[in-house]
Amino acid sequence: MAPDADRREQLRANLVRTRDAIASACREAGREPESVRLIAVTKTFPASDAAALVELGQADLGENRDQEAAPKAAELERLGIEPVWHFVGQLQRNKARSVARYADLIHSVDRIRLVDALDTAAAAQGRMIEALLQVSLDGDTSRGGVLLSDLSALAERVAEAGSLRLRGVMAVAPIDWEPVKAFELLAECSQTVRSVESSATEISAGMSGDFAAAVACGATMVRLGRNVLGEREVMT
Ligand SMILES: *Cc1c(COP(=O)(O)O)cnc(C)c1O
Repeated sequence: MAPDADRREQLRANLVRTRDAIASACREAGREPESVRLIAVTKTFPASDAAALVELGQADLGENRDQEAAPKAAELERLGIEPVWHFVGQLQRNKARSVARYADLIHSVDRIRLVDALDTAAAAQGRMIEALLQVSLDGDTSRGGVLLSDLSALAERVAEAGSLRLRGVMAVAPIDWEPVKAFELLAECSQTVRSVESSATEISAGMSGDFAAAVACGATMVRLGRNVLGEREVMT
């Protein structure tokens, strides 16, 4: 097989395996497989992989750095391929304008100043962007996320923003925590946000190593990189 066909076949097999694994996690949790959306995180992998995934029916793609995501999104657009782009990484205000051009959902909204920058940028593009609030479950905000004590106020700000739609919460499980403990706490955060905006029901939780625990705790979106694309050569 040509290298491209080889890679495509590998991605196809990985997708099947990953979707099966999500479905079995759902069954164990007594949930419908359709209740969990797979976001394939394509960071560090080329645009050709992203394009192949969309052609294989995997429309939801995630990226965590604008420097990498912006050219990748532009390249796919030139090919007439339009994924649903999920921005899942820490975001600086000075990147808001760039990210607002391509991101359909931003999972990492964690500060009021970022909300204002994104709202302005989305309005300038004439776009409506779906926002998830990233929560810092252990209070260490160096890896992004809002403190639990500030979550309500942040939710209210997003709910008032004209070009952002509050959709739910997101977290990364702290490295030294039991995943279930982390995702149960995130489920409580989801309640807090739903008390501000009842339709903000999305819970973005779970990566390749811990998604089954996230599904058991109610995740509606899992963000999987390695399971779908393979091991990354560089850490991000
Ligand atoms: C890279 C990344 C993922 C995917 O991680 P894997 O371990 O490759 O599944 C999920 N969420 C965020 C925020 C990421 O940066």
